Amino acid sequence: MTCLAGVEALRAAQREGWALAAFSVYNLEQAHAVCEAAAAEDAPILLQAGSSSFRYAGREPLAALALAVAETAEAAVGVHLDHATELDEIRWCLAQGYGSVMYDGSALPLEQNVERTREVVELAHASGAWVEAELAGFAGDEDASADDVTATELTDPSVAERFVAATGVDALAVAIGNVHGIPSRPVVLDFERLAAIRARVDVPLVLHGASGLPDADVQRTIGLGVAKINVNTELRRAFRDALLGRAEPPAGDDLGSLLDPARAAVREAARAKIRAFRPTSVAAEAAR
Ligand SMILES: [Zn+2]
Repeated sequence: MTCLAGVEALRAAQREGWALAAFSVYNLEQAHAVCEAAAAEDAPILLQAGSSSFRYAGREPLAALALAVAETAEAAVGVHLDHATELDEIRWCLAQGYGSVMYDGSALPLEQNVERTREVVELAHASGAWVEAELAGFAGDEDASADDVTATELTDPSVAERFVAATGVDALAVAIGNVHGIPSRPVVLDFERLAAIRARVDVPLVLHGASGLPDADVQRTIGLGVAKINVNTELRRAFRDALLGRAEPPAGDDLGSLLDPARAAVREAARAKIRAFRPTSVAAEAAR
């Protein structure tokens, strides 16, 4: 199948009250696992290959792997560049066939972030791709969960309104108390702030750092306009626990026997997320 999930999947999610699951992957087993989850749940997903996973696997090999696995998946899978800060990297990924990019200008002064984001929107739209952007940075580390992480920056609703109008972005990542990784202290989301952003911004909103959040909190954010949700840590933990949790090493030296349980664990974790991102009534029906 070569049907890639594009901006229409994101807009359908917003219109119909569910969220597009965006899974960060670092290797072949994870990429296959999330695509298998999408096929099993008959849902479009985004396969995120970028930033931290490029550092792990190398940009060229991981991008090629992600695009090839997405194109052969039995589901609509878009390949998304997550947290890009360099325009050259964005240009390169668009040329390879990425369907969407996230430009992260959150470390820049606001005016510069607006300028660079607008440039990325022009570039991406010329390639038929869509753009997610970010205003306030997220605390925490994408690759490792710190115990004591608290959100320090939050999205200002009126700044968000001006930012979206000035840049023409297709989706906006919101900072409402969410952090990267799974801290030991519960994450408290600012739903009032999210509602205020929703009242001023009509593009789909994106929630980063959803690993570890209770499903009820996630459902509430979807009700308030979140239409794409990023999951990374929970998939890595599923992989790790399946690999390390086995009592006995597999017989022989077949790598498939070693890695298949990890792939299956990631697939099940991804399926659970896709179900949790559906409207509540649909999720209840599917669980029956
Ligand atoms: Zn993120």
